[in-house]
Amino acid sequence: MADAQVETKQFQAETRKVLDIVINSLYTERDIFVRELVSNSADALEKFRHQSLVEKIEFDAHVPLEISIDCDDKNKTLTIADSGIGMTREELETNLGTIAHSGSQHFFEELAEAAQKDVSLIGQFGVGFYSVFMAAKTVKVQTRSWNGEEGWEWSSDGGGTYTISPCTGLHRGTKIIIELKEDAETYASKYTIERIIQQYSTFVPFPVKVEGKKVNTVQAIWSRSKNEITEEEYTEFYKFIATAVDEPLFRLHFSADAPLAINALVYVPKENFEVLGMGRMDPGVNLYCQKVLIDQHSENILPEWLRFLKGVVDSEDLPLNISRQSLQDNAMVHKLRKVVTKRVIKFLAEEAKRDSDKYLTFWKTFGLFIKEGVTSDFEHRNDLAKLLRFESSVSESDKMISLDEYVERMREGQDKIYYINGPNREAIENGPYIEMFKKRGVEIFYTLEPIDDFVMNHLGEYDGKKLVSADRADLDLPETGETTPESENKETGEPLDSKSIESLCTWMKETLGDRVQEVKTSTRLVDSPAMIVNVDGHMTSSMERILKASGQNEAFGMGSKKDMEINASSPLIKQLAVLKESETEFAKDVVEQLYDNAMIQAGLMVDPMVMVKRNYRILERAAGSDK
Ligand code: ADP
Repeated sequence: MADAQVETKQFQAETRKVLDIVINSLYTERDIFVRELVSNSADALEKFRHQSLVEKIEFDAHVPLEISIDCDDKNKTLTIADSGIGMTREELETNLGTIAHSGSQHFFEELAEAAQKDVSLIGQFGVGFYSVFMAAKTVKVQTRSWNGEEGWEWSSDGGGTYTISPCTGLHRGTKIIIELKEDAETYASKYTIERIIQQYSTFVPFPVKVEGKKVNTVQAIWSRSKNEITEEEYTEFYKFIATAVDEPLFRLHFSADAPLAINALVYVPKENFEVLGMGRMDPGVNLYCQKVLIDQHSENILPEWLRFLKGVVDSEDLPLNISRQSLQDNAMVHKLRKVVTKRVIKFLAEEAKRDSDKYLTFWKTFGLFIKEGVTSDFEHRNDLAKLLRFESSVSESDKMISLDEYVERMREGQDKIYYINGPNREAIENGPYIEMFKKRGVEIFYTLEPIDDFVMNHLGEYDGKKLVSADRADLDLPETGETTPESENKETGEPLDSKSIESLCTWMKETLGDRVQEVKTSTRLVDSPAMIVNVDGHMTSSMERILKASGQNEAFGMGSKKDMEINASSPLIKQLAVLKESETEFAKDVVEQLYDNAMIQAGLMVDPMVMVKRNYRILERAAGSDK
């Protein structure tokens, strides 16, 4: 009769792929499936504990909150049971039949690769439960939801299908019964299980009992005093909370009484999983109230750009029965978020002072998040500016400096901070924009990442000094009265007289039409014959390139107003003034090519076909083959 109620279902295609990968991946770190199941149980218990604070629950209210593990050495089974929140039939089907990630091809490639390298990475992909099939021949999940609805049994051998059938007589919670594969029989031994719990799950905040004996010490490490906690405990807790295998880069443990009672323990990992191709990270800090988990991976306790942090924030001042939905609008949570964010920024600034090399390691891995903060978080923008690091004309290659260091070195008479974007140091140093900076010995930041100019633009100024891109038309560099030795030997020759240069500019503007607003004599080119500058002070060439690439420049109505500056001392420009009279058509080709070259040096697009054709015409003449 019971059989009639057994329903067989197909796994979602993505789930089948994940199962395939998990089952066929390395066996070296198989232990982690125990950790995954225990942490699922702990999550379910936390959820129940919180739910029971939000509303009165009658059903099975007396059942103690714990995880019990039983090993049957004779039948080679392992059973992990919890008295957590349980699952309804519907939840069972979505949670253990499908995958939360919208299964892009990319996701599977990354997962497969991670599984090859290091099975423990699987946890980062949120496929925790399925790791059970590394060791299981068959798995039964018996579960009953806290709402008292009758229970269900889910069963599968990890192939293409699973079954669901009613299951009576269960208490609240979930029991996972694993029939072990022959080569995984060690997991039916209580010694193996005890060892694994001690290794990975000591910080589970509920009793974990193996064969009835409690094997972990339940403790909220973050509420203990700092000097009672050993380095090992800190690291172990990090591994536990971040599902990590290595040590953290930074750790911040602090408590405060005013304006709010806070105990916080947060870590910066060594790796940035977003750049490892795992998509956008979930926030990694959990919100507790009096050691009770209120909001796991909380989106409310820290700003988005701090999503790389892992850890715990606990405040006694929050109402214990606060619902997850109301966190977003809760004034206390806002306050808490402000205090913790400020503290984290202060901490990072202190670390940067204490050990600048280590901070640079942090910066290279997580700098992008800080930059995201500058562009998105008005409240903390100015504090965050202290954490920014860029290369500069004075810094060594690959070393980066802060805005404070720049300001300290500023020349007398200099009241602005300068920067210029480029794909790399060499490109910038060989380009036209920094020629006068070099000559006058004025330091300039090199912004090498696409986002950098947006960061500078959002910041606007630092320490009362405007941030100015060197590709601006109205740049006025300070007269420092100094020249660098490098520029002293330059033979610039006599510049073109003012009348000739004026008429050349007018004619060049006619030739180029609307592409430039004006062609004018440059006061800052030293070697290069020409360059493109931006008339709109807020838009740099790099920003324009990015907005164009994302199809947004039309919407912003920008990307047009440019001037071309020419160098009256450049031999090419002087020759062009002659050519314009004697061979006007060819001279026009030269103007066009000058424009294209300057655009390319600005990092902007030109029409390659037109340019190449023109280039051949010029080459033919240079080679003397046009006669
Ligand atoms: P993750 O835990 O990363 O969400 P899993 O594949 O491990 O991914 O689990 C999928 C979902 O199944 C969980 O999010 C949870 O909703 C549910 N689940 C797993 N184990 C349990 C359990 N012991 N009790 C209640 N729900 C569970």
